[in-house]
Amino acid sequence: MRRALNARNSLILQLADEVRAKAAALIPVHDVSFAINESHSAIIPEIGVGGSCYASGLVSIDVSQTVEMSTPALDQVLRYTIAHELHHAARWRSVGCGRSLGEAWVFEGLADHFAQQLTPGVVMPWTRQMTYFSRRVCHAYLPFALRLNRYDRHIWFSRGSILKGIPRWAGYSLGFELVGRHLSLSGNAASDCHATSAADVLQRPNNFAAAE
Ligand SMILES: [Zn+2]
Repeated sequence: MRRALNARNSLILQLADEVRAKAAALIPVHDVSFAINESHSAIIPEIGVGGSCYASGLVSIDVSQTVEMSTPALDQVLRYTIAHELHHAARWRSVGCGRSLGEAWVFEGLADHFAQQLTPGVVMPWTRQMTYFSRRVCHAYLPFALRLNRYDRHIWFSRGSILKGIPRWAGYSLGFELVGRHLSLSGNAASDCHATSAADVLQRPNNFAAAE
């Protein structure tokens, strides 16, 4: 059992090294280390994989023991997740995650766009556009999002709130949309923006009407 676990972890680490080498050509992550865990709170059930990065030097990759290794689908999901977390690591060297809701949107949106930059064609369920109604509700927070320092991260980035009309993963979906708009208007890639402030990203005409 331990041997199988070790073999599995070294496969993941090998993949992580490959992604870091590719990412390091674009963003400052050459010295980032990886930890392989199996934290249930970090793993996204739909894909059996999750990750976290709370500092510039360390990325945690969480993989459920129930997922089958060595499949092309898991390879892509792992590469995407590692790239996403590496963008966070690079951003921790400069502007970090910030304290406001708007900064968190940009932090996650840039990470997802960077993950797509490195693994084109991989689309995660949390980056899909919300329904028209949900987008309208969430876009109403835009004018003061950068000043909203007290917000519920669980509501915005994981479970949502039926009461508030905020769907699951709304923060990721909105962040992906707003950052995507900034990137297409500025002509930059997510790798160019690892140190760009959230205020600069959100100053673009990101109101709901402009995004239609
Ligand atoms: Zn993230």
